[in-house]
Order: sequence, then C-alpha cells, then structure tokens
Amino acid sequence: MKFTDLGLSAGILRAVAAQGYDTPTPIQQQAIPVVLAGRDLMACAQTGTGKTAGFTLPILQLLSNGRARPKQPRALVLTPTRELAMQVEESVRTYGTHLPLSSLAVFGGVGMNPQIQALARGIDILVATPGRLLDHMQQKTVDLSKVEILVLDEADRMLDMGFIRDIRKILATMPKQKQSLLFSATFSDEIRELAQTFLNDPASVEV
Ligand code: AMP
Repeated sequence: MKFTDLGLSAGILRAVAAQGYDTPTPIQQQAIPVVLAGRDLMACAQTGTGKTAGFTLPILQLLSNGRARPKQPRALVLTPTRELAMQVEESVRTYGTHLPLSSLAVFGGVGMNPQIQALARGIDILVATPGRLLDHMQQKTVDLSKVEILVLDEADRMLDMGFIRDIRKILATMPKQKQSLLFSATFSDEIRELAQTFLNDPASVEV
C-alpha cells in the first residue's frame, strides 16, 4: 500500500513526501481510512509505530474539508507530557504546511499569557496536557464547545500519571456529537472502561 492509496489530499501527500516517507506504517494503513470515514477508533500502538501521523494526517484532511476557520478549536489532542504535546504539534505543523489550518500546544511549566493570546487569535487544532488545559478552561481562555475531533494520545500514560479526573472534567465540557480516537500502548481494564464512556462503536486497531 502507498500513501496515495489512502484517500489523502494532494497538499497532505506533498508534505508527507517531503518527509521522505515511502510507505504508510501498519498503524497508518489501518487508522487513516477509519478516521477519514468519520468513525471512532481505539488503537493499540506504541511510540515509534508512526501513530502520530496515523491520526494527524486524517484529522488535517477532515478539517480542511470543513467550514471556514472558527475561533474555537475544532480538534483537541490530549497528551500526557509537554514533550509529547510539542512533538505532536510539530507534526501537525509539518504535515499541514500546505493547508490553511492553525495549531497550538499548551502545557504547564511556562507562562499562561502567550498561550492565552494565541488561543484568542483562533486555533483549529489544539494539543494540550490535561492540567494546563483545565487551567485555561477555568480562566475561560479556551472554549471546547466546537470540538469535532478528540484524540487521547498515550492514554495509558495519562492514567498512570493520575490524569483520569482531569480527563473526565475535560470530556464533560465537550459536545457529545464528535469523533473520538484513543491511542494506548496497553489496554488495561481502566483504559477499556474509559473507552466505553466516550467512544461510540469504535473500530479497533492493533499493531
Ligand atoms: P511516532 O510513532 O508517531 O512517534 O513516529 C515515529 C517516527 O516515525 C517519527 O519520527 C516519524 O517521523 C516517523 N514516521 C512516521 N510515519 C512514517 C512512515 N510512513 N515512514 C517512515 N517514517 C515514518
């Protein structure tokens, strides 16, 4: 299978080609069509499998098909750490370089103000760690009511780090009608339980 077989648009394929990728990895081959079809996804994938492009590429495509850019985020990616948040947002920017979509990473340990200003300018794709996102929610500097696509990345690590209550609070403020993707390296009972509370008839992918 080639990247050109996956139904991705020319701008995205150009950005992928510029990265020197030859063929989609197994997680990309399985996840990209599911996400493009609008389905929820439960994916078991470790770091290094290409999972980031597995959700980033189809999300970019879905959002670039959609309506004009609103001020509020249309996709939210939750990550356990600031390093991963920065890495995912970097991927979004790299793969979305030919698309008119904006992205931002928000995480703790740095000042709120630059993040508040960037959020106020309007963001399509927000990548966030749970604690800092809650800070923004409490200060009303972010509005999740327009989120169409939600990703929990490295969900098992987020639970290990004690983020479950934060995640539930964040989930509670988002529209029920949305597409949700869960990526985890392991599937414990706790992950399955979380998945059941917010995934709707998910496709299951394991690599
Ligand atoms: P990830 O598992 O998302 O952290 O990605 C691991 C690494 O694989 C990253 O450095 C990506 O740039 C790279 N990568 C992702 N997709 C592909 C691909 N289809 N072919 C070659 N490398 C890739």
